[in-house]
Amino acid sequence: MDITLIQSTITGLKLAGDIAKGFLELKSISDVQGKVIELQSAILAAQSSALAANSDQAAMVDEIRTLKEEIARVKAWEKQKNRYKLITPWTTYAAGSIAYALKESMKESEPPHLICTKCYEDGRKSILNPLQSSDGRVVFSCPVCKSQIPTGSRWTAPPVAYAPD
Ligand SMILES: [Zn+2]
Repeated sequence: MDITLIQSTITGLKLAGDIAKGFLELKSISDVQGKVIELQSAILAAQSSALAANSDQAAMVDEIRTLKEEIARVKAWEKQKNRYKLITPWTTYAAGSIAYALKESMKESEPPHLICTKCYEDGRKSILNPLQSSDGRVVFSCPVCKSQIPTGSRWTAPPVAYAPD
């Protein structure tokens, strides 16, 4: 928060108080009118500082909420990413393909599956799904970034296993 906004609010209110004290010494109606105008402008300035401080605080509350969400997301991902291991899933089918596979020891109740290496590097889990082209070639495709890894297999998707630890 901008501390000068609070200071100028306090200064403005103090000035308004000093002006109000001066009312006791006024002799004529025109003196009073002059002081009223002075007082009004001091009050308006204090109000505008108070409003600015308020909106500053609201922006900070927003920023803190956003950061908390980001921290929660990063923590959740740290937990998730440790459940996977980088492997070559089909050495007999397509030796060059790599993906992250769910570790056997971390499976909980989930079936074996592969997740995208690009999305993994970007901090998210995207499960790869088999896709077949018209000539029967099967690839595993990421629904998020659309990257594909060849399986070297035709017509049927090769099996996916848990990764050993
Ligand atoms: Zn992806």
